[in-house]
Amino acid sequence: MTRVALVSGGTRGIGAAISVGLKAAGYKVAANYAGNDERARAFQGETGIAVFKWDVSSYEACVEGIAKVEAEVGPVDVLVNNAGITRDAMFHKMTPQQWNEVISTNLTGLFNMTHPVWSGMRDRGFGRIISISSINGQKGQMGQANYSAAKAGDIGFTKALAQEGAAKNITVNAICPGYIATEMVMAVPEKVMNERILPQIPVGRLGQPEEIARCVVFLASDEAGFITGSTITANGGQYFV
Ligand code: NDP
Repeated sequence: MTRVALVSGGTRGIGAAISVGLKAAGYKVAANYAGNDERARAFQGETGIAVFKWDVSSYEACVEGIAKVEAEVGPVDVLVNNAGITRDAMFHKMTPQQWNEVISTNLTGLFNMTHPVWSGMRDRGFGRIISISSINGQKGQMGQANYSAAKAGDIGFTKALAQEGAAKNITVNAICPGYIATEMVMAVPEKVMNERILPQIPVGRLGQPEEIARCVVFLASDEAGFITGSTITANGGQYFV
């Protein structure tokens, strides 16, 4: 039986590596995205992975989008909550809009995506929920009160839901990446990268999206069935919890 995996924000960056890693591991994969049609089409063409467009910050859109995925690809066995945005500002300059956009995508998005797949997982007696939090949800980051709050919330969500899912063979885990070489991070000026970011990372390099994807593939597997409510920290030694 081929299991079905749904990856939010699965067409670019870390999410694209996760989609590709799960496909290579034998899953039927559906990749969701928000609005970048050109990138999504190119990704589908390169990988053969089906792409589905909706906004994870809307509950109605998630219910509708997941129903389409389940009709076209199959019932979701593995959900990867990866979609995320930043709207950085020092707190005295942060607008309610910047706060709300990040909370509704990075935190409420987990409710919106997980709730529609939860009953099916309970009924079938198997499920994997894996959410991409962040080092900044663990340690906090200046200029990111919104993002840090949302990502810390993702960890609380994971711990609570793990307790509810355990009896039904549903594991719920989070991964906290440090700096990963995606477009977002590679856009940082070279001087800032070399003088401020890399010196904070003991292994002396950025992480690669595939290194996060491998954590996801492991957590999704049957072999990881005893791991639930946990947070995998993958940050090159930058921060220990
Ligand atoms: P990218 O910006 O490269 O990709 C983000 C993906 O999420 C895109 O596919 C995008 O779709 C999608 N997306 C954004 N908003 C929504 C939405 N509202 N609904 C549906 N899809 C959406 O991000 P990264 O790969 O860098 O980050 C992935 C995750 O990892 C995020 O949660 C991020 O917070 C987290 N993370 C990243 C780190 C890093 O160093 N890069 C470090 C720690 C955590 P579209 O292409 O249509 O815009």
